[in-house]
Amino acid sequence: MLLSQFEGRFPTEESCVSYFRDIRIIQGVSCPNCGVKTDKWLQGRKAFQCTKCGCSIPLTKGTVMEHSKLSLRTWFYAMHLMTSIKQVLSAKEVQHQLRIEQYPPVWLMMMKLRNIMGKRDSIYQLSDEVELDEAFFPIRIPEEARGEKIKRGAGSQQQAKVLVIVESKPVDTVLQQYLCEATEQSIRKASKLAKKAERQSIGKVVHYIKMFVIDNLSADTLDKIVRKHIDKDTVIVSDGSSSHINFEGYFKGYERHVESNVDSVVKTHLPWVHVVIGRCRSGIAAIHGEVDKQFLQLYLNEFCWKFNRRFFKDSCDPKYDLFDRLVKIAAIYTSDIKWRDYYLPDDEIV
Ligand SMILES: [Zn+2]
Repeated sequence: MLLSQFEGRFPTEESCVSYFRDIRIIQGVSCPNCGVKTDKWLQGRKAFQCTKCGCSIPLTKGTVMEHSKLSLRTWFYAMHLMTSIKQVLSAKEVQHQLRIEQYPPVWLMMMKLRNIMGKRDSIYQLSDEVELDEAFFPIRIPEEARGEKIKRGAGSQQQAKVLVIVESKPVDTVLQQYLCEATEQSIRKASKLAKKAERQSIGKVVHYIKMFVIDNLSADTLDKIVRKHIDKDTVIVSDGSSSHINFEGYFKGYERHVESNVDSVVKTHLPWVHVVIGRCRSGIAAIHGEVDKQFLQLYLNEFCWKFNRRFFKDSCDPKYDLFDRLVKIAAIYTSDIKWRDYYLPDDEIV
């Protein structure tokens, strides 16, 4: 959504309240005491009322905004900023744009939004064919490791391990699927894809992605994540690391590419997982600098959520607008992140 469209749709706090109320009614508001569904609205109190016990249910009850002292329009504005640009944003920048004096509420709002983005994406499984690899992301040295000798490689205190999984398919397979469908739309898509494939050197098409901060690279750690987030009926393509030892037999297929020419393996078999790692790592480093390991998953959530919805943008139709997607999940997910859990001294605020 463009800024002018945002200003037009949400000029006042009341316009945001009214929009959010309608979304909540569509999703269904239940009384926290007796579970009865209600759409009875108490205009002056910005709350619903239970038709059985009569209690009032605040508009933000059971949403990500619950307990926040910021106005709904501030939340909407932050969601607009987070969804209207491709890059990630720092809480400092949003604080500046919103002219809010205090940093903690803005930081908390953005972290909660990143938290619910992850919750939303976790309901979906990746399927069909996926590229999988482990990456290292730079992090601030943890407090307890300061003063220690910095280790190199996988055990370094300056790096966090991240498991990256990307749904992708060879361009030829996707072209064949489009042509088999033989509808006007699929043939148009096939022609667009063929032209794109000619322009870029990546011979695969990427779909959805997932990224997880992991404590270690053991097979057991990876198995728990992949079995939850990848459909069993999937072919996994990887570099054949020893951590992937249990993929074979559990999933429909497992392709190990252990050739000595790493560049060729990446280019031919694992192109998108590396593109995604590069983009995400440089995006986070450019905006947030060195991040604390405990926040990294939240930044990954934001990157993945936006990447997975990259085709929703700047549409006048709320159905295809990324901002509206975020408002909808803001209405159904809560986040228990608290400022005091993560308090950073002023000199470390980025
Ligand atoms: Zn009730």
